[in-house]
Amino acid sequence: MQKRGVIIISIDSLRADHLGCYGYELQVSPNIDRIAWNSLVFKSAFSAGPYTKPSINAIFTSTYPFNFEGFGSIILKETIASILKKHGFTTAIFSTNPLLSPIFGYARGVDYFFYLSDSQRRLRFRQSISEIVKSLAKKNKTIVSTFVLLASILKWTRLPYVECGRVLSLALSFLRRLSRQKKFFVWIHLMDTHMPFIMQDRYLPFNIQEVILNAKYQAKIFNSKFPITQRDLHQLTSLYDKKIQYVDKKIGEFCDELDELRLLDEVYLIITSDHGEEFLEHGALGHLGVECKTHMYNELIKVPLIIFGVDTSERVVNENASLIDLGPTILSLFSIPYGKYLRKMDGRSLIINSTVSLMNKRAIFSEADSINLDSGFKRVIDFRSKKIISIIKEHWKYIYNEEDKSVQLFYLKRDPSEKENLIYEEREIADALHKELLLHLRREEKKWKLAQRIINMRKNMLKIKNKN
Ligand SMILES: [Zn+2]
Repeated sequence: MQKRGVIIISIDSLRADHLGCYGYELQVSPNIDRIAWNSLVFKSAFSAGPYTKPSINAIFTSTYPFNFEGFGSIILKETIASILKKHGFTTAIFSTNPLLSPIFGYARGVDYFFYLSDSQRRLRFRQSISEIVKSLAKKNKTIVSTFVLLASILKWTRLPYVECGRVLSLALSFLRRLSRQKKFFVWIHLMDTHMPFIMQDRYLPFNIQEVILNAKYQAKIFNSKFPITQRDLHQLTSLYDKKIQYVDKKIGEFCDELDELRLLDEVYLIITSDHGEEFLEHGALGHLGVECKTHMYNELIKVPLIIFGVDTSERVVNENASLIDLGPTILSLFSIPYGKYLRKMDGRSLIINSTVSLMNKRAIFSEADSINLDSGFKRVIDFRSKKIISIIKEHWKYIYNEEDKSVQLFYLKRDPSEKENLIYEEREIADALHKELLLHLRREEKKWKLAQRIINMRKNMLKIKNKN
C-alpha cells in the first residue's frame, strides 16, 4: 500500500549502541525497541560526519560534506524536501537546534519551518561565553578548563533547547490539521540527548550535582588533563541514558497518538541520529574530540537507522549503510523517479521494489575538519580545511588525518571498539583504502571547485545588478 507521508525523527548525539535494539544491555529505550521490532533495522549505519553540521546537511542533500558547502549553507542545493515538494508533498521541519535552522538555507523547499529557539538574550550570552572560551583555549588549557567549569555552571541551570515533548506535540498538532488528501514530509530534530545532560528545563529547582557533572564534562573537552573519575564517568553515562529514556518515552507517546489519528499505518517513520557521543573510549568526551581535535571513531559515526512501514522480508540488515542514502531511499519508497537527481547525489536507495539493496563492497565515507576548536555557528569549513576522513568498506575502517598525517586501520568484525591499529600488519589493505580515499577526495575537490565558480558567478551578477 502506498503511504501518505514520511516522518524522520532524528535524535541529536544518540549513539546506536545505547539502544536495546542495537544490543545495549540496559533497558533505556523500550519504545524505540518496540518500533524497531516491527521495522527494518540497519545495524551498521554511519553518519557522514562526527558532529551536527556535516551530518544533517548530508542527510538532507544526500551529498558528502566536503564536495560542496556541506559545512555551511545549503542554499544552492537540491534537498529531499525540495524534491518532494516538486512532487506535491507538503513539507515541514521541526527543529530546536540552531544549526538546523533557516539561516543555513534549510527553509528552501520547506512549506512550514518551525524553529523553536532559546530566547535571544540567552543565545547571545551562550555565544559570548563560547567566544571567550575559544580565545582562552588558544592560550592556556588550565585557565580555560576552570573558566569553562564556572561558565558552564552558570549557563546550564536551564536547558539551551526546547525539550522534545513540546517539539513532538507541535508536530502532532500540525499533522492533525493536515488535509488527509495531502502527501507529506516531516522532519523532527530532537536535542534532548545532546549536552548538557540535565533533566529539568527550568531554573529552579535544579540539581546542582547534575550541573557540576556537566560542567566537568565540558572542561574535560577543552583540557584532556582535567580530572574525570570513573565515578564521574559512570554518572555522566547514566545521565545520558536517562535522557535517552526521556526521549524514548516521548517518542512512544507520539507513536500512540499517531496510531489514534490512524496515521501510523499511513507513514514511513524513520528514527535516526546525526552522530553519537564519546565517553572516554578514545580519550575524549562529547563530540569535539580530545581538546577539540576531531575524532572519527564509531562512538561518533555509528548511528541508529530504523525504518518503520516498509514491506520487506528482511527485518535486520548487517551490511553497511550511510545516512547519505536516506534521501534516495525516501524517493524510492514513494516511487518518485529520482534518476535525474541521482547524478548530483552521493547516496543510493537502500530499498528498491521492497527489497533491501545494499552494496557492502561500496566504500562509505565520513568527513570533518581535523581541528574543531573554533566550533561555532559562523565558522567556515570547506575543502581547503585540514581534513579527517574515514573510509569503511566491508569490515575494514581506515582513518586519515591531514593535520598530523596520522593513519589508523581497524578490522571492525574482530575489533568493533577500534582499539587495535593494524596499519603496519595490514599494509596492503591500508594502501588500497588510502588510494580509494584520495580518489574520493579528488572527486570532492572537483565538485567543490565547480560550486565555488557558481557561487562567485552569482556574487558578480548580483554586484552588476546592484550597480545598475
Ligand atoms: Zn548534533
